[in-house]
Amino acid sequence: FSSGSDEVEKAKLAAAAREKYGKEPTIFSKIIDKTIPADIIYEDDKVLAFRDVNPQAPVHFLVIPKEPIIGISKATDEDTQLLGYLLNTARKCAVSEGLSNGYRIVINDGKDGAQSVFHLHIHVLGGRQMGWPPG
Ligand code: IMP
Repeated sequence: FSSGSDEVEKAKLAAAAREKYGKEPTIFSKIIDKTIPADIIYEDDKVLAFRDVNPQAPVHFLVIPKEPIIGISKATDEDTQLLGYLLNTARKCAVSEGLSNGYRIVINDGKDGAQSVFHLHIHVLGGRQMGWPPG
């Protein structure tokens, strides 16, 4: 038996989780659990970096958290450390990928940001001269 306020609390938590994680797992969850293959550059308990299947530059990889946060706009203050960790992982992978002349980091979010996979990911693109502004 649980009191009514417990139920309200549980419903609030469930709604918050849906807002942050969505309802359906994405293709990136399958890459994380290895049910579909990926060209993995780096992995640890918190993050995964792998090559983009449709590269837009000679080097193009994605860095994702294992926690399936929908996108940067759904992250919270509790994710501050994780967000820093993602960026630092991108930096280290850029070194191991030989991007010594620089690179571009991109996060697409939501409709206007042209996000297509709803699992937060950082794009790292390099190996050619980038233009500005982006399309
Ligand atoms: P977004 O447009 O920022 O959401 O980027 C999603 C990226 O994921 C695109 O660049 C896709 O090419 C890439 N992508 C989608 N499916 C896969 C996959 O199975 N493996 C690797 N990259 C993928």
